[in-house]
Formats: sequence, structure tokens, C-alpha cells
Amino acid sequence: MLVFSDIKSIQKELQVNSDNFTVGFVPTMGALHQGHLSLVAQAKRENSVAVVSIFVNPTQFNNASDLDNYPKTLDEDLRMLKDIGCDYVFTPTVSEMYAQNVNSENFTFDGLEFEMEGKFRAGHFDGVGTIVRRLFEIVNPTKAYFGEKDFQQLQIIRTMVRNLELPVQIVGCPIYREDDGLAMSSRNQRLTKEHRKVAPLIFKVLSEVQKRFGTENVTTIMQWVESEIKEEPLLELEYFEIADEATLKSVSKIEKNGKYRAFIAVFAGDIRLIDNISLAN
Ligand code: AMP
Repeated sequence: MLVFSDIKSIQKELQVNSDNFTVGFVPTMGALHQGHLSLVAQAKRENSVAVVSIFVNPTQFNNASDLDNYPKTLDEDLRMLKDIGCDYVFTPTVSEMYAQNVNSENFTFDGLEFEMEGKFRAGHFDGVGTIVRRLFEIVNPTKAYFGEKDFQQLQIIRTMVRNLELPVQIVGCPIYREDDGLAMSSRNQRLTKEHRKVAPLIFKVLSEVQKRFGTENVTTIMQWVESEIKEEPLLELEYFEIADEATLKSVSKIEKNGKYRAFIAVFAGDIRLIDNISLAN
């Protein structure tokens, strides 16, 4: 496995003039867990080489302390990546990616950016769009892998690729969970013991929503979720929505052939956790 931190070296390495050479790319912010590794394994299976980037992107953080406290475990990350047969890792510095201008470009993502996370994390998706587009330019991947854990991000990247006609195929990958159902996240490391203990309630609630969907109406389900989370004093609900998978607009009525998902954001102390689940109609 080769590790590069400058743009020119990785570009040079990945410039292979062969028709059937394909690059599978997984952008990450490090502090890797099995969820990340499942994406890397898929990238490796489906391509000639797997490339992972590790870069804590400052422009997608709307909260300075979240950025300062974001876990950094580079040595352990590299060991895990080597163990699963990753080929290349790109670990640029902030100045390598942004030079003197640590700012986002402005994007429009067909309105997806104004829903859910967009309402609570100002500028977040402009930061994501900026860094993912730059990484795509550098790595020039055939396929890029994103987790459904961040479903809104996945749909936003799909929209960016379509609108800018970028030559990459976006692959969505299932959410990887702990045995107790908690969606794996780099931020889970920062949960206190008490918060970690109660955090699986998030997935329990989503699973119950999945069961109730189709027999109960959306308003009743929303009220039920709010009261369930309220009963746990260590968790605080930021939002719960049932939304159309394509537009991410919250729905109050279910259409027969629609595709829907339930989305949730919860604070466990200072740590913000998000999760989602697909709803069969
Ligand atoms: P991050 O390092 O949090 O930016 O995540 C990098 C990629 O891994 C993103 O595409 C995430 O959606 C994905 N990811 C993070 N956690 C999980 C998980 N539990 N299951 C599947 N994919 C995940």
C-alpha cells in the first residue's frame, strides 16, 4: 500500500494508460471503522485498485469545536487499510487541498441542500461539494463509494455529478451497524459510557417506524418518535422526518409507488448522531 500526501505524486501514480484499469475511490475523514472498511472492500472487489482519501475537511464543519475534536487516528487507519488490501491512501494537508483559500465554492444541488442536515448545518454541503469535486479531479475515479449512513450527502453527490457531468459512477453502500444496532460513526468514539449505552435507542426507534409505516399515518408516527426520544433524558431529538428518497422533502401523505426513508438526528450530550432507514410501502 502506498501513501501520498501531495497531489502531483498520487496523480502520477494513478495515470495508467490502459483501457481496463479502473479506480475505486472512497473519500473519508479518517478515524476509520468497519463501516468505512466495507466501502473500501467493495471498491477493491469492483476495480483494479482501491484508493482511500483521509482528510478532515475544515469547510464542511459548521461548528469549530466539532472540527477541533474530530478524532484523528492516522496510524491505526493506515494499519486497517493495509490489512484489507487497500492500494493507495491520499492524506493531503489543508494547504495542499485549499492553498491560501480555505473556503467553499457555492453549489446548487437542486434544493436537496435545504432539507434536513441543510437546515441545521449551514454551509455544510457546499464544503462537501467543494472537497469531493477536488478529490475527484485529483483521483479521477471510475467509481466512488459513499455510505447510505449519510444518505442526504449521497444524493447530493449524485446530483453534483449529474449536474456537472463528472465522469464518475457513484455507488451507494448499506449502513454498517454495531451489534446493538447503533450506526457506526467516527463520532461514536467520543460518546461517554452513559451516552453509548442509550444510543442504540435511535436504531430501535427507526426499526419500529419501519414496522409502523404503511399502517399508521405520518403524523402519528412522528408524534410517537418524539415521545420515545423524550423519554430518554440522555438523548435530545434535533429532527425526525419521513422524506421522499429522491427529493428529500418531508412527506405527510404516502403515495402508492413512492420511495421513502425515515431520517433522524439526535444529540447524545455534545455528540450529534444521524441515522436513517428505508421504508417499504
Ligand atoms: P466520513 O469519514 O464520516 O466522512 O465517512 C466516509 C464515508 O464512509 C462516507 O461515504 C460515509 O457515508 C461512509 N460511512 C460512514 N459510516 C458508515 C457506516 N456506518 N456504514 C456505511 N458507510 C459509512
